[in-house]
Amino acid sequence: MLNYEFCESPFSTEALEGAIQDSAPTWTLEVAKSNHASTLGDACERRLVYRRTIGDQAVPMVAYTRGLLSTGKLLAPIVIDTLNRFGQKQSPAWRMLEQERRPHDPQFVKLNIGCQVDSIRHVVSAEGRERPCNVVEIKTSDSNIFSRIHTPDDLCLWPWAAKYSDQLMLGMLGCELVTHPGWLVMVNKGNLYDMKILEIPFDYQRAEQLLRRAERIERHVRGGTIPERINWPSICEKCEFVHLCNPVLEGDPDAMPERLDDEELAAMLATFRETQEARDAHERIGRELKGRLVPGQRLMVGGVLVDWRRHGKGWRMSVGGEAKEGDGPPGEAGDLGF
Ligand code: SF4
Repeated sequence: MLNYEFCESPFSTEALEGAIQDSAPTWTLEVAKSNHASTLGDACERRLVYRRTIGDQAVPMVAYTRGLLSTGKLLAPIVIDTLNRFGQKQSPAWRMLEQERRPHDPQFVKLNIGCQVDSIRHVVSAEGRERPCNVVEIKTSDSNIFSRIHTPDDLCLWPWAAKYSDQLMLGMLGCELVTHPGWLVMVNKGNLYDMKILEIPFDYQRAEQLLRRAERIERHVRGGTIPERINWPSICEKCEFVHLCNPVLEGDPDAMPERLDDEELAAMLATFRETQEARDAHERIGRELKGRLVPGQRLMVGGVLVDWRRHGKGWRMSVGGEAKEGDGPPGEAGDLGF
């Protein structure tokens, strides 16, 4: 029989949880010595300059975030080991080296770019010779985010993930492995055997943009200047320098409009306006249709099938193409309540 007396120690689970989180490695706040590849794709160039000049005045990272970042580092060797067990059974066999590699590209040295890649995948020939092929970055995420990532484009849904492909690209450039796509290994933290490998081809244009960015940052750091604020609420509110930068996050609705040159923002606004116009037209036609159609009456009008199903006390109409034998129930496209 178990003796539970020994278990009655005077700790609270809350205190224990807090203490464990606090024990995540601390990051000393310091001025960054280089433009790190993992950050060069950041949304704000001003923040990158701050890191190089007043990094010791940043708001410290909370214990939870430090824990998240440390977890990723702790899991990387386990992920490499799992992948290598798979790789050695392949033909040709391959393996990933279990140590980070710091490229010493002269361009990186000149632009003060700090870079270390998680691993490099080596393909092994029949004679046992190993040839480096792909630069590998390993990123872990919770199950929810993991389930939403299927292609490299999906990474743009989160500002912190949008930088992954830039980091990989710089790693490929620094390691001189640009002819084979980089491997971004996404791992589900809830199940370490659940992985996706996103192959990211080298993009010369993007790499060039990142190098020019590093060049500008060096110029600002040496010249004591600072880039413009981005004034981007969702980014600025979480920025570690927001207390020093004072971005403009509220405007005056009565003021004259300012002229802003931002192609990306202009494209987003144009799409927003177009989709809003389409939505307005959809609602207007829907109202007119309600006045013309008899609920429940199936119709075929000019190749468009009008179908109905009961919805509570009313009807839902859906429109689709011409009905064919074997067609299932009415689709949701063009769904309209009556
Ligand atoms: S507060 Fe905004 S503009 Fe200022 S450094 Fe941070 S992200 Fe950039």
